[in-house]
Amino acid sequence: MTAEDRVPSTPAEYDRVVALAETRLVLMGSPGAETAAVADHLAARLGLPSIAIRDAIQSAVRAGTELGDDLRRFMNAERLPPPELLAAIVRRRLGEPDVVDGFVYWTEFPTLSVMRSLETLGIHTVELVLADAEATRRLTGRRTCRGCGMIWHIDSSPPLVEGVCDRCGGGLFHRDDDAPAAVAHRLSVYHTHCTPVLARYRAAGLLISVDATRPTEEIVTELTSRLEGG
Ligand SMILES: [Zn+2]
Repeated sequence: MTAEDRVPSTPAEYDRVVALAETRLVLMGSPGAETAAVADHLAARLGLPSIAIRDAIQSAVRAGTELGDDLRRFMNAERLPPPELLAAIVRRRLGEPDVVDGFVYWTEFPTLSVMRSLETLGIHTVELVLADAEATRRLTGRRTCRGCGMIWHIDSSPPLVEGVCDRCGGGLFHRDDDAPAAVAHRLSVYHTHCTPVLARYRAAGLLISVDATRPTEEIVTELTSRLEGG
């Protein structure tokens, strides 16, 4: 089904499309903002699927679509797929029957081309607001267990013995992704993509911003009450 199929033709149909926008959510958050966890909790609370770009890609490839073939060509050539292709892949996934009543699509790379391709579906956008200093503290302090993959944090959830996993006794290491220079780069990529997106939806009155420094449950409770309150 395409968005065009859902163009409202009666007042009742129009009301239905407006109501649907309340359940078609695009959640954006910088690295460190726990966007995936918030999306999963929010989706569970609303009874909707939580979808990330990798789900959209897997779906396009699994279904043997032309989009999947195009993507594979880029991946085989070790080239980044163009934004229009990613936009089409996300758009395809969010048009599948299981998400007709709504979805929580979450991303750390909210490019304008993807976002614009979703607008005809009727979407609300949500920004998880986290200062770069806090994102940096969260990410650079992470230590990952070589044994079981558990993630510890040197301040907020340190193991009993420094450098050793409480759960399995494995050694902890600092992932390259979590090194200060890598984190600074990830944040700068996020801002480059996100700034024009946020400006667009803020100006249109379609952006809900929430403080992401709090526990996931609190964030989700605030979001659901603000969505219900309109
Ligand atoms: Zn472990």
